[in-house]
Amino acid sequence: MCGIVGITGIADVSFSIYYALYALQHRGQESAGIATFDTTSLCKHKGNGLVSEVFNGINLSSLEGTIGIGHVRYPTTGENRPENIQPFLFEFRNHSIAIAHNGNLVNYQDIRTYFEDKGQIFWSTSDTEIISKVITEEIRCGGSMDDAIRQCMHLLKGSYSVVIMIDGDLYAFRDPYGIRPLCFGRTTDGGFIVASESVAIDALGATLERDVCPGEMICVTKDGFRSRRFTDAEHKAHCIFEYIYFSRADSYVDGTLVYDVRRRIGGLISEEAPVEADAVCTVPDSGTAYAVGYSERSGIPYVECLIKNRYMGRTFIMPTQELREIAVRIKLNPISDHLRGKSIVLVDDSIVRGTTSRRIITIMRQAGAKEIHMRIGSPMITAPCYLGVDMPTRNELIGSRCGVEDVRNRITATTLHYISLDALVRSIGKPVSDLCTGCLTGKYPIEIRGEECESRPVDFVESDFQTSLFPVE
Ligand code: AMP
Repeated sequence: MCGIVGITGIADVSFSIYYALYALQHRGQESAGIATFDTTSLCKHKGNGLVSEVFNGINLSSLEGTIGIGHVRYPTTGENRPENIQPFLFEFRNHSIAIAHNGNLVNYQDIRTYFEDKGQIFWSTSDTEIISKVITEEIRCGGSMDDAIRQCMHLLKGSYSVVIMIDGDLYAFRDPYGIRPLCFGRTTDGGFIVASESVAIDALGATLERDVCPGEMICVTKDGFRSRRFTDAEHKAHCIFEYIYFSRADSYVDGTLVYDVRRRIGGLISEEAPVEADAVCTVPDSGTAYAVGYSERSGIPYVECLIKNRYMGRTFIMPTQELREIAVRIKLNPISDHLRGKSIVLVDDSIVRGTTSRRIITIMRQAGAKEIHMRIGSPMITAPCYLGVDMPTRNELIGSRCGVEDVRNRITATTLHYISLDALVRSIGKPVSDLCTGCLTGKYPIEIRGEECESRPVDFVESDFQTSLFPVE
């Protein structure tokens, strides 16, 4: 997972990008970077850490220009090394280009080998670099940026939401299935912003126009806004995990407010697995909207029993199991007075390895809880993600190795219920055939070696470009 943003037509654009990256921080904490174009050359600053750390003491005014792009990285392909920090910047045939990508390309190695066989060198281990190779190859052959992006859609397999700055122009495009989110909006002073999530648009006080459609390219040049559709797949494959966990609850993803999806899920879990209890408690913050929904539907009061230390990063990114366990203890403090002698419905978004739930249930029991009925906003996660979410291997996924009763036993819950896939899909409000459910079903929308694929053919359409902000039909 990663967060990307591109902004154009705003004075001191680096400040706006900086704020937008803050809004997207939940999408990646490993590194952050900004690139701008000052009408003659590229300016950049990037580094390892949170946005606040990377830009601490940096004079943002030195990143000059009215156009720029930014990135926060959560590693999927490629190790944590300086060369992999985005945006990637390069010069090619008098063009100054910067690129930022969210997603994961499953044919990365094949395309890399193709270019290496032609004598090209690579300086990173990130799959994003092959997008830059496809673009420069097309330009080398005399193609336009439109041609280059069309070519990307033909060649790249996997998930990609991409922003590209080339000289003073901003381009953005999304893979034919729309796996990762991407949307755009207008700022009050006539500027334009494209970002992974609408919260980045909100952060600037800008207005969300719409999502970039799957298979669509949009661009803003000196001639204004343009959009073009290169593919029109009958079935999309929006990542279901964006709704479950990854996107911020206050984001609109593909037209749907994530908070309301989670609240509906909470309501449906209470219908699927009712229980008599004294209180409904969230695992903050990931379980909150779900817990609110459960409480509303069941009539059981919503009571906070765990308080989160807001100054800790995500425990998931700790490198070892032991460190992750310590981190959970520091991160959440139980309120004993709310727990002592009580039966609690504990609601969270997902169980991945099972470590978090077990630790939380242990500290709640130590604080006096009598019963803990665990309710989970996703079905069992049984398979890895190859399309951009950092999911462990099957071996590490508790849902891949154990049945529900075994998981309940291991996390020491009194009862355990995962929402059904059917109820989850109803809560999202899109047909299941437009969602990627790979991590839940082990069936992927794209061919992945050794995995089962649900084929979803892509039609290549060559729409004329249009200048209205509305999607091409
Ligand atoms: P665990 O079961 O200990 O692996 O942790 C599961 C918790 O981590 C979930 O409740 C989520 O809040 C969070 N989580 C789930 N998937 C991810 C992910 N891919 N990256 C970071 N955190 C995640």
